[in-house]
Amino acid sequence: MFKIKKKDKVIVLSGKDKNKTGNVMDVFFDNNKRKVVVSGINIVKKHIKPTKNTSGGIVSKELAIDASNVMLICSKCNQPSRIKFDKLSDGKKVRACYKCGSINI
Ligand SMILES: [Zn+2]
Repeated sequence: MFKIKKKDKVIVLSGKDKNKTGNVMDVFFDNNKRKVVVSGINIVKKHIKPTKNTSGGIVSKELAIDASNVMLICSKCNQPSRIKFDKLSDGKKVRACYKCGSINI
């Protein structure tokens, strides 16, 4: 079970976008490493050649970064926090915030 999901708000811990925040757009595996794509983070600009159907130009695109470089921002206390999993009485696992103790964040 992976701690970070699509639509989570995260903060970047290292690299050129350090301390920036964004929303997770995608989570996937690459060579057994978890990668995340975060809106507004690790942007690259690509020059697109004009074709019959498009006018070309410069396109910005987010590249995936290593999931270990981001930390979830708790939706309850709004602080970057480590995440733990709590088991509910019905056996269901939910995410919980280390800082404020909220579950289902
Ligand atoms: Zn919290």
